[in-house]
Amino acid sequence: MNIAFIGLGNMGAPMAANLIKAGHSVTGFDTQATPAGVTMAASAAEAATGADVVITMLPNGAILRAVADQIIAAMKPGAVLCDCSTVDVDSAKAVAAQAEAAGLGALDAPVSGGTGGATNGTLTFMVGGSDAAFATVQPLFEIMGQKAVHCGAAGAGQSAKICNNMILGVTMIATCEAFALADKLGLDRQKMFDVVSTSSGYSWSMNAYCPAPGVGPQSPADNGYKPGFAAELMLKDLRLSQQAAESADADTPMGQLAAALYQQFVEAEDGKGMDFSAMLPRFEKRGRA
Ligand code: NAD
Repeated sequence: MNIAFIGLGNMGAPMAANLIKAGHSVTGFDTQATPAGVTMAASAAEAATGADVVITMLPNGAILRAVADQIIAAMKPGAVLCDCSTVDVDSAKAVAAQAEAAGLGALDAPVSGGTGGATNGTLTFMVGGSDAAFATVQPLFEIMGQKAVHCGAAGAGQSAKICNNMILGVTMIATCEAFALADKLGLDRQKMFDVVSTSSGYSWSMNAYCPAPGVGPQSPADNGYKPGFAAELMLKDLRLSQQAAESADADTPMGQLAAALYQQFVEAEDGKGMDFSAMLPRFEKRGRA
């Protein structure tokens, strides 16, 4: 397949590398990055010209909309625009409608699994869009990931992603505040992990990404809270969930509080540049307000 890959940063570069390794022809474009091994075009439109599938992996919805404006007219009829970035549901739907109006297929296909999953080809894709567009891109999802769930129509992939990450933000905060409480109650952290990870308080945040250094499997906590998944990216996703809750008139009090806590952590405290699990040292330092 002829593939264009636009946005070759921390995620996009290793995803494109896996497509090339599998024998696909990939033409890339990025305003900053020039990863080795990818043939680069002079513009997004040039990269998209003649491609069967255009994959985008960009920072946010505003940039996605700007890139879509540049490439849609250049894409060949029947080609598929597959956005793998995490963006707001409204931008995902708007770009899909614009692409479909121009005779193209469109998918929103955000990922879970981080840079490790991108490198190892073990991402999970959550996908919104038509059956036909999904069928076209599925072989590429199989190369870049271990699983692709077709969640529904345009926007459904982004909806699934922000709901998942809202749960993740809330459970990480709950796990961190519980560890800090356990400390103050004199409970050994390893004992806390041994109990909770096999009891009803277990979660991915506790069991797979334990925020306490030296406890549970290896995680950013064991590496000075170097990301991993940065607190500011969690804040971005929590904001997207609250933006969606606002426009869908959904009551999400825990998500709202998680967004406010991560905002405070990133903007007013020392959370910027830290992994999102560094909420634990934050709670350790605090007393009851
Ligand atoms: P990144 O900042 O490393 O990469 C984004 C790339 O887009 C950069 O190389 C940038 O130069 C390029 N870019 C910006 N504007 C552009 C334009 N107009 N045209 C072409 N290229 C442009 O970010 P990332 O970590 O690769 O994340 C990409 C997306 O994936 C984000 O939406 C993020 O939320 C999502 N995501 C990231 C992770 C993660 O662990 N990093 C995990 C899941 C999802």
